[in-house]
Amino acid sequence: MDLGLEGRRALVTAASKGLGRACAAALSAEGARVYIAARGREDLERTATDVNAAGFQSADVSRPETPAKLVEDAVQALGGLDILVCNAGGPPAGTFESTPLEEWEKGFDLTLMSTVRLCKAALPHLKQSEQGRIVVITSTSVREPIATLILSSAFRTAVVQTLKTMSGELAPHGVTVNNIAPGRFLTDRVRQLDGAAAAKEGISQDEYTERNVKATIPMGRIGDPAEFGATCAFVCSKHASFMTGQTIVVDGGQTKGVY
Ligand code: NAP
Repeated sequence: MDLGLEGRRALVTAASKGLGRACAAALSAEGARVYIAARGREDLERTATDVNAAGFQSADVSRPETPAKLVEDAVQALGGLDILVCNAGGPPAGTFESTPLEEWEKGFDLTLMSTVRLCKAALPHLKQSEQGRIVVITSTSVREPIATLILSSAFRTAVVQTLKTMSGELAPHGVTVNNIAPGRFLTDRVRQLDGAAAAKEGISQDEYTERNVKATIPMGRIGDPAEFGATCAFVCSKHASFMTGQTIVVDGGQTKGVY
């Protein structure tokens, strides 16, 4: 199937590793020109080469001044913008009681405001595109709160409400606005979370991951980031032109709700 992504111009943030990288790789493989960002330079440079990026920049999307500059630099490098994939590192794990108030403020900037600021800066450019697309990487926590990830559950739900509202405003301009909610994919983030949980129980990380996967994911395996990237490429494609305001859950059957 031709996804109609040849020559489309895409900015993918937090894309040096994991799910963001997988999205950039999938878009690039379909012929899109991608500009990628993350904080650390080393992984970013390696990924830029691997995914044949048209440009890259070290940028921390949680900083208030960064998104506008990042979008303008990407637009300049690409000659416009058709696709924005918003991603950021996950907020730290913690329950309501164990999460200090300062972390709420950081989580607000990292998870909610990075998306708001990136979308605001990108909108004028996306409205000029024939195939404008916004995709935000969220989490299944928007469907079922995860007790040990209170910040993710709280701020990503706000992201989803914001995107749903935006989707109505942008539909007349042909810009679609969707979020893709990952279950468990094998990335550094999951290795770290599982490593910490395993240490608390005094078992190995592999043992913890395997037990957790068997107990919670009907498909009996953890997701491959490439499967997530392929979903992202489809949502950005010409074939997804009538789909907007949606949460697309990719989780091997983990979540139990029907909506
Ligand atoms: P990952 O493997 O740890 O990769 C995170 C990427 O984001 C890296 O490229 C990292 O590079 C970059 N990054 C982190 N903080 C950033 C910031 N402030 N500004 C710019 N770039 C930043 O994580 P992942 O598993 O792909 O997760 C991606 C997102 O999906 C996270 O929000 C995570 O919570 C969410 N999620 C993941 C899963 C899963 O199963 N993997 C499930 C549910 C939700 P630098 O550190 O160099 O900046």
